[in-house]
Amino acid sequence: MCCRWISLSSSELSLTEFESRGSSVSALIRELRRDVFPGCVLICGGTGMGKTALARLLAAALLCEEPAPEKRPCGQCKGCRRVQSFTHPDLLTPTETKKKSIGVEEIRGILSALQTHALESDRRAVLLDDADRLTPQAQNSLLKNLEDHPPATHFILTTAYETRILSTIRSRVVTVRLAPMTQDSLTAWLSRQGLSAEDAREYARLSDGSPGLALTLSADETDRKLRELAYETVFRLSGEKDIPDAEYALRDLKEEFDRFLAVLERELRLCMRGDANMRKGECWAEARPTQLASALGAVIRAEQQRASNVNYQAVLNVMLQTIVEEIKKWPLS
Ligand SMILES: [Zn+2]
Repeated sequence: MCCRWISLSSSELSLTEFESRGSSVSALIRELRRDVFPGCVLICGGTGMGKTALARLLAAALLCEEPAPEKRPCGQCKGCRRVQSFTHPDLLTPTETKKKSIGVEEIRGILSALQTHALESDRRAVLLDDADRLTPQAQNSLLKNLEDHPPATHFILTTAYETRILSTIRSRVVTVRLAPMTQDSLTAWLSRQGLSAEDAREYARLSDGSPGLALTLSADETDRKLRELAYETVFRLSGEKDIPDAEYALRDLKEEFDRFLAVLERELRLCMRGDANMRKGECWAEARPTQLASALGAVIRAEQQRASNVNYQAVLNVMLQTIVEEIKKWPLS
């Protein structure tokens, strides 16, 4: 993976911020506020979408000591704090959260703990983050408990790979799917995380409504540098005369060239969606989506050649030439 992934903790997103993340999510939050919560929930969403944060907030709400259900999780009480630090005795979760696979023994250990009464709260939460890590045997061992779960026990599972969860499990859980954040709400949230107004707008634009991806990108200096380079070179091309300067500016990329191509591809896709970056060169600002698509085609061909180990300078030259040929057909060229 090209960059370190920053995960969201429950303190970074509030339950209120999830209310606009799709009808299934808002329905679940409404139920929670009426103090009705399903026995088993599966939260689905891509990496960085906040499903772990939501799962922890739900677990905190279940174990919160605040009497009014609509105010849970309060974030202040002993229950909430202990869920955040994973020290609540009624929060059951695999011991090693980063393990690649979770075996049947680990799940049996959790299930046997359910045979006893809750220790501090009047209910228990079983949190299985990235539940696709459970082996098929581990998932099978869960089945009976999901169907006929102990009283006042709530299972909360998350996954980025819904189809890796056995269909027998999926048919026994309430599935909620996290929709992306809107660009405006993500921008506002990033500002609250301490990003400047300009950066908040920029990373909301780049991250397709994923708060985790936005945070990861905002801390990724290489991505920022490659983005700047893309705008100073490829997005300034207006004819053959610009190719030598672009090649000179990109001469030292070497092992970063493949990431550069990935950044170019992402920016072109955003431009095609009408999510244009104001710093684009004039002739690029006038390009129609079909014209941007042909430039994107040149970038994708370059990526394919790189996958076949073609020398990067040769790939770069062909890509720039092809893009310039396309630009000649554009309105302002
Ligand atoms: Zn609380």
